[in-house]
Amino acid sequence: MRLLMVAPPGAGKGTQATRLSGHYGIAHLSSGDLLRKEVAAGTAIGRIAAGYLSRGDLVPDDLVMQMLVSPVRRAVESGGYVLDGFPRTVRQAEEAYAWARQEGGVELTAVVHLVVARDELRRRMLARAATEGRTDDTAETIDHRLDVYDRETEPLIDYYSGRGLVVDIDGGKGIDDVFEDIVASIESVRSGRS
Ligand code: AMP
Repeated sequence: MRLLMVAPPGAGKGTQATRLSGHYGIAHLSSGDLLRKEVAAGTAIGRIAAGYLSRGDLVPDDLVMQMLVSPVRRAVESGGYVLDGFPRTVRQAEEAYAWARQEGGVELTAVVHLVVARDELRRRMLARAATEGRTDDTAETIDHRLDVYDRETEPLIDYYSGRGLVVDIDGGKGIDDVFEDIVASIESVRSGRS
């Protein structure tokens, strides 16, 4: 099972990816969480990434790829993954595809696209700021991250739609309902293919 989550910041991709990982027994790989860990640990990657994260800009592709190669390889060996936050650009998707071809496993199961209205995304991220204390959950950075999503990440939906992989999910519902919708859609994509 290989799943990608493509959704704007605040849409609940981390929450749903955690649940999907438990449900299907696959690894949850969050590029944002991994980057925040690198920053907290003060590694070479973390020192370069810190400024991009706090501004809400995308970290350079090479750095993200370098960070993800080993965890993705391990996940593939142990049953699959749900990738949360990667790829973030069409260029990352193309590079990941080229890499996966070399590794011998390119088939994705589904791309989960969570759709949530912009006002609701903003509201959720501001609420999260009060509980999680992320440096990028400020009013100004939130708007910038939403713009970056529209410009850099949303085009991925067309990219993957062309391969028949995208399931569109209303992410404005409650957490349990969204999860049920995602699982039902994944199952129907899988049975349609078998
Ligand atoms: P997230 O936790 O997915 O909202 O990501 C938080 C931040 O990490 C983003 O605003 C980017 O600065 C960085 N980031 C996460 N994933 C990627 C990626 N695939 N490519 C570039 N930057 C990323």
